[in-house]
Amino acid sequence: MKCDVCGFPMTERMVTYSIQLEDKLVLVEHVPAKVCDQCGERLYSPATVERLQKTMWEKRSPSRILQTPVFDFAAK
Ligand SMILES: [Zn+2]
Repeated sequence: MKCDVCGFPMTERMVTYSIQLEDKLVLVEHVPAKVCDQCGERLYSPATVERLQKTMWEKRSPSRILQTPVFDFAAK
């Protein structure tokens, strides 16, 4: 399978999915995705997307909590 964006072959890999919910950044580790090594495009199967959404909705206890420093590139 080739990347929709640049045409580079995509490889199946486990990635960390991140999404910002209100003021929290939520990470889901070990998500299967097809990844383009050239441009970074990621594709998730419909079943994976469904499970990701469920994971967000359920708001079950996370496996662990990370502290995340946030930098503003525009700030001096
Ligand atoms: Zn690509």
